[in-house]
Formats: sequence, structure tokens, C-alpha cells
Amino acid sequence: MATPLTASQILAALIAEGLDVKEHPGWRTHDRGNRGDGWGPVNGVMIHHTGGTAPSDGEIVWSGRADLPGPCAHAYLAKDGTLTLTSAGRANHAGGGDGAVLQAVIAESYTTRPPAPHKHDGSPGAVDGNARFYGLEVSDRGTGSAWPAAQYEAAVRWAAAICRAHGWTAKSVIGHKEWSDWKPDPAAFDMAAFRQDVQARLDASTKPKPPAAPVPSPAKPSVSLSKLIKAAKTDPPKSGTPVSYAGVKTVEAALAAEGLLAKSYVDGHYGTATKDAMSGWQERCGYRGRKPGQAADGIPGKDSLTRLGKKHGFTVIA
Ligand SMILES: [Zn+2]
Repeated sequence: MATPLTASQILAALIAEGLDVKEHPGWRTHDRGNRGDGWGPVNGVMIHHTGGTAPSDGEIVWSGRADLPGPCAHAYLAKDGTLTLTSAGRANHAGGGDGAVLQAVIAESYTTRPPAPHKHDGSPGAVDGNARFYGLEVSDRGTGSAWPAAQYEAAVRWAAAICRAHGWTAKSVIGHKEWSDWKPDPAAFDMAAFRQDVQARLDASTKPKPPAAPVPSPAKPSVSLSKLIKAAKTDPPKSGTPVSYAGVKTVEAALAAEGLLAKSYVDGHYGTATKDAMSGWQERCGYRGRKPGQAADGIPGKDSLTRLGKKHGFTVIA
């Protein structure tokens, strides 16, 4: 059981997980109030598909339909992996479902999947899922074909972000089809496999971190901001080889220690993986916008780099 996250906590958790987040105007106070069992204590997260891929689907998740007032989820995930926040309170997404499933989720006691549901919205004894689950509506026709990689990855990150914020494992993540015996969504994959991907993400960035500074080294290494920027901007190079600079590896090691970069990418090349990792760090420092020229575009900046160095034992020079 857990107290629901505030809107600000939700936003911070999603950004820290590296998601491209958009905020629908008014999302912080857009909810279904205290209908049914209200909102919370919360016990898990639920994945849905919209059943269509019309550009207007995001607005339907926001405003609802004649038979189902919005919000219809806490967030809407577009095909390109962009996440739009639509609610921070009670939303019309889960409906009634099986209390035995809820108990298995609360206890995180099952092996690969919770017990099959035998209830649905309106059936006798159904439990109000809208009070217990955060919901994600994913733009998908529901034909069973795979989601684009960026969309799938964003769904994994959304689920992991909320689990991490609550201290839950991936067993707190279910699909709508696992909650209600009426529902087919999400159709694109087996939820047991999805949970494995969420858990891998949770495990990868919660491993114990190495000590902040190497113990035997008396002097801190220094990293030149201007040389680093040059290396970042010429990798990949238009022609020839990228600018080689030893400080790149120092910074990559720090990003790896932060859980933002796989160790295999600590290679001295300021390529796409390193830029992504630096974007993640810049977002942790409060910067936004990953497009070129924006504050979290992965090209090193003085403030965020200095903060990384303070934490990981290097100084920043001009
Ligand atoms: Zn659904």
C-alpha cells in the first residue's frame, strides 16, 4: 500500500527515468475525484492499448468519450515514444477487476504471472481498479503486432519510474487483460516478458555504485569543458576520425557510475550513447529538452558537468 505520488513527484520520476515528457495543460488537477473508492492507496501500474492510432486519441484519453468521462489514464504514449501526462489522480482506465489479482500484486508474491482474472467491470465482487492502479494508454490498434522500439522502451520506463518511486518490483506491473476477464489489452506482447524488461531496468540502475572517487589517486583528474564539447560535436565525424580526448573516458566512467551509461560504452567516444547518458544527467540537474541546442541535448554544459565532477572526483577546467 502506498500513498499516491503527487503530480510533481510523478513528473520528477518520469524525467529521471529519461522519458520525453509532455504535460497536457491542467493535468495536475484533472481527475475523477472521489468517485468509487477514490484514489489510493495505490498498489500498482497498468498497461493498456487505445485500440486505435488516430492522432486525436491523445485528446480522447484526456477528455474521454460519451460513455466514459476522462481522464482515461494517467498518461498517453504516442507511437514515437512521447509521453503526455493527463492525470495525477483517479482516472477511468482499469474499471472493476479481480481482487485475487490485486492481492497477488500487493504481495508481489506470484512467479511469472498473477492468477487469471475471473471478474470485470460490473461483475459481482469486482474491485475498483481505478482507485489502485496508475494507468498508461498506449497508441496501438490492438492487432497484436509489435510496438515500435521507442514506444515499447518508453512504456517500460514509465512503469519502472513509478515502481522505483514507490519501491515496488516489476510484479506491481500488470496488463489490463490480467485485471479483467473482458479485456484484451495490451495485445502486443506477453506481460511476463514486459515485467522482465521493467525489472532489468530497475536492477540495472539500483546496483551498488562504486566509490565516488578512486581512493589511491592523490590529485583529481581535470576535464576540459571546451575539449569535451569539441569531442561531443565531432562524434560521429563528418569525415575522418572523431576528436580524441582522454577526458571523454573520465566523464563516461562517471555517467556509468550513475547508471546512465552501459560500461561497454566507456570507450572514449562521445557518440550517441554518451550523449543520451549526458542528457539523462542534465535532466537530473533540472535541465529540459533533448533536441539539439536545448539545455539537455547531451552536449556538456558547465553547471551539469561540474556537478558530475564533484560527485565523481574530477574537476572542470575551461
Ligand atoms: Zn485497457
